[in-house]
Amino acid sequence: MTSQTLTVPQRIDAAIAELAPHFAERLSRNPSVCEQHAHGEGYHARHFPHAVIFAQSTQEVSQILRVCNAWRAPVVPFGAGTSLEGQVNAIEGGISIDLSRMDKVLEVNAGDMDCRVQAGVTRQALNAYLRDEGLFFPVDPGGEATIGGMCATRASGTGAVRYGTIRENVLGLTVVLADGRVMQVGRRVRKSAMGYDLTHLMIGSEGTLGIITEVQVRLHGVPETLAAAVCQFDTLADCVNTAVQVMQMGVPIGRMELLDDVQMDACIRFSKLEGFRPVPTMFFEFAGGPEAVREQVALVEDIVAENHGSAFTWSTREQERAELWKARHAVYWACLAYRPGYTGISTDAIVPISALTDMILGAKKDIEDSGITAPIVGHIGDGNFHTVMLVPEGEDWLAKAHALDRRIIARALSLGGSASGEHGVGLAKMEFMPDEHDAVALDVMRAIKHALDPNGILNPGKLLPAVAAHPKACQPA
Ligand SMILES: Cc1cc2nc3c(=O)[nH]c(=O)nc-3n(C[C@H](O)[C@H](O)[C@H](O)COP(=O)(O)OP(=O)(O)OC[C@H]3O[C@@H](n4cnc5c(N)ncnc54)[C@H](O)[C@@H]3O)c2cc1C
Repeated sequence: MTSQTLTVPQRIDAAIAELAPHFAERLSRNPSVCEQHAHGEGYHARHFPHAVIFAQSTQEVSQILRVCNAWRAPVVPFGAGTSLEGQVNAIEGGISIDLSRMDKVLEVNAGDMDCRVQAGVTRQALNAYLRDEGLFFPVDPGGEATIGGMCATRASGTGAVRYGTIRENVLGLTVVLADGRVMQVGRRVRKSAMGYDLTHLMIGSEGTLGIITEVQVRLHGVPETLAAAVCQFDTLADCVNTAVQVMQMGVPIGRMELLDDVQMDACIRFSKLEGFRPVPTMFFEFAGGPEAVREQVALVEDIVAENHGSAFTWSTREQERAELWKARHAVYWACLAYRPGYTGISTDAIVPISALTDMILGAKKDIEDSGITAPIVGHIGDGNFHTVMLVPEGEDWLAKAHALDRRIIARALSLGGSASGEHGVGLAKMEFMPDEHDAVALDVMRAIKHALDPNGILNPGKLLPAVAAHPKACQPA
């Protein structure tokens, strides 16, 4: 029998039967293991893979893909499963390839400030490894994500305002293609003008074009001085205007995060933050040499004063600073704890800096009009912000949340922005692809997908909407 004459479940079973002897106990059909790989951290319905394989090398990933491609069996790469848009849910079943055991740091080139890691290394593990080198890797999404998963979702975090996103911090990749061929892309240099940029084609491809097994990343020197400050405002407009002016003045801020009154209330309760009010708040981090930090602080203090902000509350000791940023990184859990039992649905719009005030104040009004509790938190220096829409059980609440999400995205698009600054497309944002990309761009994306994965085995049903099946989702705000 050939793969053409079999049903999809039969092809998947055939691929599993061929792979099972090679992977022994590292191929699991255990329902609880499959359940762990049926979802990320988002709210989407679980979709179970038929099996999970824990890969340990590029060669093993290549072997799995060669077999799955021959049987036309779907595969879904899995890093840490922290993605929020339904990216890892195996909507057509198949094999989930878990890369978390590919967790070795392969080389550190301290003199060139770069290193090579296997895709399953987490950012926290890499930074622990680098502690004695005086170097660090700056891309910091809130979850304990793998670097392969971060590449695949084009992730960023609080450090992007100074150091850029994963896109700016990846120099090269090892990628296994759908047919099992292994491709090396990129060099250990800061720039290269040699041909198509396949490294960055893979960044943000969400496991639909290839499986990343190794990553060459840029590193940065740990700054001599770090200081964190918190500043509070009576109005959201003053808080946002401060962020806009800090960016427009070109202050090389280390981190700058906005929390609205509701988010601050949730954080004060969840992280037991003392001495703060539940009002619009900005968390700053200043980084650099002592003199440079003094200059940055003076400039930002002036801007804050002009916008009627409070005096800075400082955290200069490492422990205090860590506590403050831990509270910032825990905002998602703080939101879920704010309305126990509710579902949290995250939005991820981004706009150009000059449109931020219109965007955030507009979104706040949209939220109030919707009757949904939805704290706002923003990587505000990038123009990116999230709301976590908290809804009780019931289809009508889910529909209200989707309507609010659409409204926020429509507003962002009308201001020249994008539906997702960092969480990616997955299942949840797929309907907005035609709002953001014209028909020609979508055709080019489909041609690339077809060229690299003609049998459509790599994370099927994600990122790219089917032709003509998806009318535009957004109406202008
Ligand atoms: C509390 C919380 C806070 C978060 N904050 C942020 C934030 O600030 N910024 C941000 O950007 N994101 C954030 N996220 C989302 C999430 O952490 C990121 O999307 C992260 O990059 C996902 O990495 P992962 O290893 O968990 O990937 P997974 O969830 O396992 O996979 C994500 C996607 O990548 C694919 N994939 C995984 N590994 C590979 C690989 N090696 N090769 C090819 N494809 C692969 C998967 O198939 C899937 O499509 C947050 C999530 C949580 C839960």
